[in-house]
Amino acid sequence: MSTLSNKPSTPVELSDWRDAGLCAQVDPDLFFPDPGDRAAVIRAKSVCAACPVRFECLTDALTRNERFGVWGGLSERDRRNRRGKPLPHRCRHCHGPVLEPEHWYCSLACRKAGQAEQTAPPFPAKGAA
Ligand code: SF4
Ligand SMILES: [Zn+2]
Repeated sequence: MSTLSNKPSTPVELSDWRDAGLCAQVDPDLFFPDPGDRAAVIRAKSVCAACPVRFECLTDALTRNERFGVWGGLSERDRRNRRGKPLPHRCRHCHGPVLEPEHWYCSLACRKAGQAEQTAPPFPAKGAA
């Protein structure tokens, strides 16, 4: 049974990332949908969204100019549309890929979570359990 998780990922050694990919727990064909099968692309992307190594996976696919399949949450078309753009950097909250160079977070949810972490007091308030 698959154990998909939304837990924030932590950076892993680049050489280890393939072992940690969630796609190892599901049918690999899911990541190579037939042309035009948008529903299959969405299913593959939903697995990638919870994958702890999506930053490493996407960076690797973009660096290699991988043409086929869904990698790091981006489809073939998504990656084609990124040609010539900078490689992603890590989200300050979940460590996943951020595609826009001027953004610190990959999503609104991560931005809210990251900002809450920054404004939280470093020690428990007096009287807190
Ligand atoms: S990001 Fe997607 S394709 Fe890449 S290792 Fe994770 S599940 Fe597999
Ligand atoms: Zn994030």
